[in-house]
Amino acid sequence: MPELPEVETIRRSLCQHVLHQTIEDVELRWSGAVKGWDIFPFEQEVRGRRIESIERRGKYLLVTLDEGWSLIAHMRMTGRLNFYNDAHESEKHTHVVFKLSNGELHFTDTRKFGRILLVPTAERFNHPSLRVLGPEPLEEDFTPKVLGSRLKKRGVALKCALLDQKVVAGLGNIYVDESLFRAGLSPERIANSLKPKELKSLHSAIQSVLQAGIEAQGTSFRDYRDANGEKGSFQNALQVYGRGGEKCTLCGRLLVRKRLGGRTTVFCLHCQK
Ligand SMILES: [Zn+2]
Repeated sequence: MPELPEVETIRRSLCQHVLHQTIEDVELRWSGAVKGWDIFPFEQEVRGRRIESIERRGKYLLVTLDEGWSLIAHMRMTGRLNFYNDAHESEKHTHVVFKLSNGELHFTDTRKFGRILLVPTAERFNHPSLRVLGPEPLEEDFTPKVLGSRLKKRGVALKCALLDQKVVAGLGNIYVDESLFRAGLSPERIANSLKPKELKSLHSAIQSVLQAGIEAQGTSFRDYRDANGEKGSFQNALQVYGRGGEKCTLCGRLLVRKRLGGRTTVFCLHCQK
């Protein structure tokens, strides 16, 4: 699933192409892709709208259109937004085609969990999925103190707490494991047991891992691509994720693999306390 760095990379690559373009037509090939808040005919309302800005909140893309409308896009497991300069033949799993003044934007999703919803711009942060999101980890107001207050009532494993979008927005399995390794904290630690010094390390690890992920244009294992169809390269910089049974880059002992919160978690028993 694309996490914050991947969604941010998609956002940046989309901005290069679609900003200030007009959606001349919409081809809805599977209406389930836009289900949710579809109290109005999607194609009818979107047709003729101009794309004014593209922002990100957690793992969501917020596309502001003119006339008071916005699109909220969530890629979930396998969703992709691909831009093409010319008319492009749809793939089997292309569900929505936006025909723009300068090309086409295709929403493709093999597993069909991704969604593009049309909402009034004024209401977009009230959408049930967005309303509950925790702080943006790369914003200035995200401090070690804020992180501590978010973890305060969480008597669960640190790994599970950090996967919860209400605690911090945008983290998923990859960047949580990487952050915990860099912070030297065990994913099994109880989330509200962290000392101020440990909160500081975790806060700084989260920020530096996400920044590095964005600089590498995300992590591509299977599905993730940006709007140009390009892969990211952060998979080459991973220290623990996907490396269970391999040697720890710090101490050389073998990394262990455990299920935590239903997700495979990889860490070093020696370096992470
Ligand atoms: Zn180690």
